[in-house]
Amino acid sequence: MNTINKPRVLVLGAGFGGLELSTLLSETFGADVDVTLIDRGDSFVFGFSKLDVMFGHATLDAVRMPYRNFVKSGVRLLRQTVTAIDSEARRVTTDGGVHEADFLIVALGAEYDLDATPGLAGANEFYSVAGAERLRDILPTFAGGQALVGVCGAPYKCPPAPSECALMLHDYLVNRGVREACEISFVLPLPSPVPPSPETSRALEAAFTERGIKFIPGRRVASIDNDRKVAMLDDGAEMPFDLFLGVPRHRVPDVVIDSGMAENGWIPVNPRTLETRHPNVYAVGDGANTGTPKAGVFAEGAARAVASDLIAKLRNDGSGKQYDGFGTCYIEFGGGRIGKVEMDFFSGPKPTGTYHEPSVALRADKEIFGTSRRARWFGT
Ligand SMILES: Cc1cc2nc3c(=O)[nH]c(=O)nc-3n(C[C@H](O)[C@H](O)[C@H](O)COP(=O)(O)OP(=O)(O)OC[C@H]3O[C@@H](n4cnc5c(N)ncnc54)[C@H](O)[C@@H]3O)c2cc1C
Repeated sequence: MNTINKPRVLVLGAGFGGLELSTLLSETFGADVDVTLIDRGDSFVFGFSKLDVMFGHATLDAVRMPYRNFVKSGVRLLRQTVTAIDSEARRVTTDGGVHEADFLIVALGAEYDLDATPGLAGANEFYSVAGAERLRDILPTFAGGQALVGVCGAPYKCPPAPSECALMLHDYLVNRGVREACEISFVLPLPSPVPPSPETSRALEAAFTERGIKFIPGRRVASIDNDRKVAMLDDGAEMPFDLFLGVPRHRVPDVVIDSGMAENGWIPVNPRTLETRHPNVYAVGDGANTGTPKAGVFAEGAARAVASDLIAKLRNDGSGKQYDGFGTCYIEFGGGRIGKVEMDFFSGPKPTGTYHEPSVALRADKEIFGTSRRARWFGT
């Protein structure tokens, strides 16, 4: 490879997708490629760690992975905020300057649109690090009454996460000896907890029933009246609460909307190659409309496909391996047990999910999922 005119790869967003893509390019080309990875944050946190922080199973310090530890040959990680994207020209403006690229990958994830649900800004959500931290401090003050886990719209990240929240809340209240004084309800806009896997959904619904959790599928929280402490559902029903644990509506970041790359809220891509309509511009992860769930494992799979395509292009070796739409999700069932569902979105005529019963042994698998990525990306 020509090391004087190194290909310039610009990756926006150092989340699941951006970290994996940059790592793969570094592993393949080392200093022979010029990768610029941009993120406005100072650290990465796994989505599932937010549940651990909220329920006091981990401190934020323990789960936060500082970007200064992401050290890869050929990759420059810049802490900047992306303010404009010109996808046609592959030119990106940040608060630190202008970046031009031969290959541009948008991996900016999904943002939370609190304003889309009137009243939510005055209630609590557990999908951001700040929201999970706030709830960590509020939960110990809840000793009786109605708890409502409420999802405000789909699609949202990690479809099983709100179910996990309801089950973990049950355990949390049992451990504090106050479960009998509390009711837990769970409102979900999906028809079942994990629609591509009826077996997983049945197992989760059975777990809700066993624990006395009232499950309301096919409904979303449309607004919240914080004075009356009532959540309004999209069918007009009112649900009173003493504790609200919300999942906000999601959308691509404003900078992506302003760039004109999004259509109907998300970035259209070829689901197998992650190419956008502009040559050498790709989108991976939660912001891209691939038909697969908004989850880290899927962002990572999409990043692998883009890396493979870039590697093939840079070596003048045809095109790369396509995105397989496959991902394994671990699900907290409570009581220390973890279930697993292996999802396959592209092999058959419709998505499938193979269910693995919850066990203590699968907890070790989930831990390896986290520690292996932490070691691979951050060397810690
Ligand atoms: C409670 C919860 C539990 C979850 N559990 C799981 C799980 O068990 N398994 C799983 O696979 N997934 C899980 N997820 C989902 C997972 O976290 C996301 O799907 C995944 O992080 C998406 O990766 P991404 O690369 O698309 O975006 P992200 O990881 O969100 O990264 C996007 C990055 O872009 C940066 N960014 C955004 N806008 C700008 C800007 N203007 N300028 C600069 N930087 C910007 C952000 O700072 C961020 O670092 C969970 C999520 C939640 C909330």
